[in-house]
Amino acid sequence: MKRVRAEVLSARRLGEYHSLTIVAPEIAERARPGQFIGVRMPAGREFLLRRNFAIHQASRRGGWAGTVEFCFEPHGPGTQLLGQAKAHEFLDVIGPLGKGFAYPKKLTNCLLIAEGHGAASIYFLAQELIARGKRVDMIIGAASFASVFKPIEGKRLSQTITIVTADGSLGERGSVLEALPAMVEKTGTEVVYAAAPTRSLERIAAFCRERRLPAQVAVEERFGCGLGLCFSCVVPVARKDGTGYDNLRACVDGPVFNPARVLWDRWLAEEPQMLPTPPEGLPVVREWPG
Ligand SMILES: Cc1cc2nc3c(=O)[nH]c(=O)nc-3n(C[C@H](O)[C@H](O)[C@H](O)COP(=O)(O)OP(=O)(O)OC[C@H]3O[C@@H](n4cnc5c(N)ncnc54)[C@H](O)[C@@H]3O)c2cc1C
Repeated sequence: MKRVRAEVLSARRLGEYHSLTIVAPEIAERARPGQFIGVRMPAGREFLLRRNFAIHQASRRGGWAGTVEFCFEPHGPGTQLLGQAKAHEFLDVIGPLGKGFAYPKKLTNCLLIAEGHGAASIYFLAQELIARGKRVDMIIGAASFASVFKPIEGKRLSQTITIVTADGSLGERGSVLEALPAMVEKTGTEVVYAAAPTRSLERIAAFCRERRLPAQVAVEERFGCGLGLCFSCVVPVARKDGTGYDNLRACVDGPVFNPARVLWDRWLAEEPQMLPTPPEGLPVVREWPG
């Protein structure tokens, strides 16, 4: 993992997403699909933690060599601030972080599934799979037309693609889960990769388990440090020898996991209340007094 002061080479809008390309050769050289970066925010209590983003592109050759691209939808204070970043500004970035996707040795037909910004890492993965002679098909889902991430890029990278939107404004109306059985049949899927919100990943995992399809999923758990120190992002994962499970840290042991070994019920049932409501009658103390 490297920490770099990275110049913003370009800042672009892509529908509802913002894309930032930064000059970070030390990160680009080592980056694999599924890994992520942590971007430092301006000093201050509001922005104590770095914001994490999947690596969408890491160019090692050609005119863009040494650059890393990441994409996001501005919603909270951190992503809104990053949405204002301009070319030639500098960002404090650490990466590449986490463990990326593994590539199949023998199996060939890969079905890649993404919802929303999950497509950022899935397209990077598609490039690497194609370079290894694999067949890539995709299901890309989003709420609406504007939040389908780079649909033309998806079409370029896949043999066949199904685009689904919740409101039917692009592709078929529906969800990636609804499109999954038909795509598996049509493409002779042998391996599934997915990056999507956790509840969708849980259902994709159940489908793959039932069909005995090997799969890998990239989870997005909330991190404190992103470096494996704070244990705020643990995921319960069954041991290979069947003797129980370990709480693995999504930031360093993931974010890519074998979904067949994730104990989804235990994990999602244990989701912490980020802001518990104080019992009635107790004062809400927001600042240390004095
Ligand atoms: C491994 C990983 C990869 C990610 N990749 C992308 C990406 O490619 N594009 C993208 O738009 N977003 C991505 N996210 C989510 C992104 O980190 C959050 O949207 C962002 O940090 C929100 O910050 P905020 O200040 O705008 O919002 P706030 O909601 O105010 O954030 C408050 C705190 O919660 C954390 N947080 C909020 N939402 C999430 C979330 N969904 N997952 C994890 N932590 C969250 C923030 O990091 C911050 O510490 C990724 C998250 C992880 C863990």
